[in-house]
Amino acid sequence: MNKPVIPVIDVRQRPAPTSQELLETIKNIDLSKPTLDTLGRPLRDLRISVTDRCNFRCSYCMPKSVFDRDYAYLPQKELLRFEEITTIAAAATQLGVKKIRITGGEPLLRKNVEILIAQLSELRTLDGKPLDLTLTTNASLLKKKAQSLKDAGLKRLTISLDAMDDAIFRQMNDMDFPVADVLDGIAMASQVGFEDIKVNMVVKRGTNEDQILPMAAHFRGTGVSLRFIEYMDVGASNGWRMDEVLPTADVLSLLQSRWPLQALPPKSVGETATRYGYLNAQGALDPQLGEVGFISSVTQAFCQDCNRARLSTDGRLFNCLFATEGANVRDLLRGAPDGGVDTVAQYLAYLWQQRTDQYSALRQAGMVPAGNAERRVEMSFIGG
Ligand code: SAM
Ligand code: SF4
Ligand code: SF4
Repeated sequence: MNKPVIPVIDVRQRPAPTSQELLETIKNIDLSKPTLDTLGRPLRDLRISVTDRCNFRCSYCMPKSVFDRDYAYLPQKELLRFEEITTIAAAATQLGVKKIRITGGEPLLRKNVEILIAQLSELRTLDGKPLDLTLTTNASLLKKKAQSLKDAGLKRLTISLDAMDDAIFRQMNDMDFPVADVLDGIAMASQVGFEDIKVNMVVKRGTNEDQILPMAAHFRGTGVSLRFIEYMDVGASNGWRMDEVLPTADVLSLLQSRWPLQALPPKSVGETATRYGYLNAQGALDPQLGEVGFISSVTQAFCQDCNRARLSTDGRLFNCLFATEGANVRDLLRGAPDGGVDTVAQYLAYLWQQRTDQYSALRQAGMVPAGNAERRVEMSFIGG
């Protein structure tokens, strides 16, 4: 086994950009014009990490060897407050953001996260519609929280589950957490009225590929969409190796050996998953049987339409999941003369206009090396 690469430099610590010079530069940015990055991509999706902590230790995300008792998580004062997150989200809507995903670490560990959801649910897109507001969770606290999340205005849920087999799942979360409790959480979410529930399964060759068919069999026809995620070389510490990636093409052919499937058209530009619908005995798409999705960032990079930015727990904006640096929006906001929304919107536009990121596409083309990079930020810090 490869030893995980442990970052020697804490990439989370960056100086604040609250210089007068920066304020002078961004104040001339015209928000009435569309904001596009250097590759012509708009910003439509903001992922907000509300905590860098988690009660699981999935080896592909927060391996115990690195995230141990001595790991220095952010102190409370470094965290964005809910009002600050809402201000930044409101600024992002001025640039055209339509979708917000609350994530982490484990977002349900953040105290009173429902208050934040209620605040975000009040925001409107540029065309006056409510945001597509969703949350990704390991579901360990979902049974308890599903009702309050729904009441707060959360629209959709994504739940991570990597196996139906209890022993394999307990080993993958590395905290001995049982599958049954995740399934109870999903059942409760459905009971309280969440209609759009997705389940994410990270597939690691040699670890859980024998769970692909059991997972699909379990969720087929239940209204829950299962999505298979290629194991990614995010962060600096998961000890990623290409030979542990099971390509989507292999997962798809395994599924097709059991059930007929048909490709579905994308619902929107920049969608991360390619989707397939189950066919019935007559060979027709059957909505009752539902669909599966594939997130293939290693073998079929989707950078060309990537419209996502990520806000870390301490208020840094990362324009790519594989970034090494985030821009300090928090300190700009705390020092902003006008309460913040317009200044932050201009800063976000300024940052987005400089965006060149397309790591997965470059990795796939062999133009950058695959694998963990020493200074790369962890996924638990900026969210999935
Ligand atoms: N704790 C929550 C959860 O697990 O749902 C939210 C945060 S987690 C970082 C978000 C998503 O990232 C999860 O679905 C997780 O499976 C996925 N993820 C984490 N590390 C990954 C990796 N190395 N490759 C692919 N997906 C990964
Ligand atoms: Fe925690 Fe989610 Fe990362 Fe697993 S994938 S360690 S549940 S943040
Ligand atoms: Fe977007 Fe970066 Fe992922 Fe490409 S690698 S899809 S730019 S987050």
